[in-house]
Amino acid sequence: MQTLWGIDLGGTKIEGVIMPMDSDVPLHRMRIDTESFNGYDHIVSRIGLLIDQMEQASGIQRPSRIGVGTPGAEEPSTGLMKNCNTTCLNGQPLPGDIRKVLGIEVKLANDANCFALAEATLGAAKGASNVFGVIMGTGVGGGIVIDGKALNGLQGIGGEWGHNELIPDGEPCYCGKRGCVELVLSGTGLQKFYLGKSGQQKTLKEIVRDTETDIHAKATMDRLIHYFGKAISVVINILDPEVIVLGGGVGNVQALYTEGVKSAEKFVFNTKMRTKIVPPQLGDSAGVFGAAMLVR
Ligand SMILES: [Zn+2]
Repeated sequence: MQTLWGIDLGGTKIEGVIMPMDSDVPLHRMRIDTESFNGYDHIVSRIGLLIDQMEQASGIQRPSRIGVGTPGAEEPSTGLMKNCNTTCLNGQPLPGDIRKVLGIEVKLANDANCFALAEATLGAAKGASNVFGVIMGTGVGGGIVIDGKALNGLQGIGGEWGHNELIPDGEPCYCGKRGCVELVLSGTGLQKFYLGKSGQQKTLKEIVRDTETDIHAKATMDRLIHYFGKAISVVINILDPEVIVLGGGVGNVQALYTEGVKSAEKFVFNTKMRTKIVPPQLGDSAGVFGAAMLVR
């Protein structure tokens, strides 16, 4: 039987899935700890261990090629990892080392691309040929899927709208630039803005809950809606996607699907915006499903 194997490499857990070619119901799923505190070589061996265990537990022979989702990206010109928040991966030839250790080919993509690919093939944007998947969580990332394929790009930064400049001369960002989309639209950014306004610490959930009763919460949400429209319109004007899927904690803010859409409409270069902006459907499974879809 031909199967699709995906591995989602996270900072604390490594998850694996075996998918059939013709259905979206997994044949097998397994999870082990990454133990990233033991360093890079150990992480590679843990991936090997997970594949061994999946093979044993499922009775399905490993394929010649697997998909791997990572917290950062592979620099296409060198095969070395970059932008990983599991920092011991940075500068390491992860795809090459998996090939060496496991003897199988690897197709690698960052977690935002895996999220977008999963939602575009199995989830909220199933059937659409031009999809933008957004993760707005502690950071802001994105992935482009065209005709069922994730677009990595020349430099491995395809879809990375999170570090477009949104507020000229805004706050400094870790990336070295200022006023990035991520600083404004991430959960972290929203909580920080609220704190600056009110002098009080509230979680994103509490800010959303208190929108009607707390003027600072209202100001935080109004700012989110305004800048979300402004930032996403740049993506829409360039990619003109059929569907945009909003993942991550900020994707749970319901107002984005009503007022957020209206705000985007104001900035898009067209009299009517037909791009659908929708919540995701696959939940926590998107990362690992997307990794498997890389080898479809
Ligand atoms: Zn930045």
